[in-house]
Amino acid sequence: MKNIVLFGPPGAGKGTQSAFLVKKFGFVHLSTGDIFRSNIKQSTELGSLAKSYMDQGKLVPDSVTIDLLKSEWSKYPEAIGFLFDGFPRTHAQAEALDHILAEAGQSIAAMIGLEVPEAELQTRLLERGKTSGRPDDANPAVIAQRIAVYHNETAPVQRYYEAQGKYQAISGVGSIESIAAALENVLQSI
Ligand code: ADP
Repeated sequence: MKNIVLFGPPGAGKGTQSAFLVKKFGFVHLSTGDIFRSNIKQSTELGSLAKSYMDQGKLVPDSVTIDLLKSEWSKYPEAIGFLFDGFPRTHAQAEALDHILAEAGQSIAAMIGLEVPEAELQTRLLERGKTSGRPDDANPAVIAQRIAVYHNETAPVQRYYEAQGKYQAISGVGSIESIAAALENVLQSI
């Protein structure tokens, strides 16, 4: 069982690379953003709560997000490994994840960070907004807010894993294939 956290700012390419890793290694992909968006589509109570934060570029509160993650995670007792994408995004979420996994005798093998320069992120997100239908990608002020939240609340999560000797960074700039190859190398080394 290999549990991996794919990390990086909004627009780093986590979703794109997750699709590749799932196909190649058979991970169960848990993306909190995707789960929130699917709830919004189905007009659930959770969806409407999440939307009120997401549309402003803010984080959904930890208590809601952690409960959701735990319940999704528990649906896959036979998983050979999980790929966590967009979670953990705060120090409290990182601690909660360690706790959830430890209770099941598991742990995170590595956090892999996709590093992308800031100017490139803005361009990518605005470009994605033209086709993704995501309101949070269409508005430059919301994009700026998401990047600010990333710096203030999410970037420190990297240090949490660094302290455990589990953080590895790769460049998120280049072709999808070259980044996928770099990810594959890291995964094969752990
Ligand atoms: P991106 O990384 O491109 O911003 P995501 O799909 O990961 O896209 O997240 C979209 C939004 O969903 C975030 O801006 C936030 O509002 C909410 N969200 C996703 N994951 C979390 C999380 N772990 N904790 C709190 N909010 C989250």
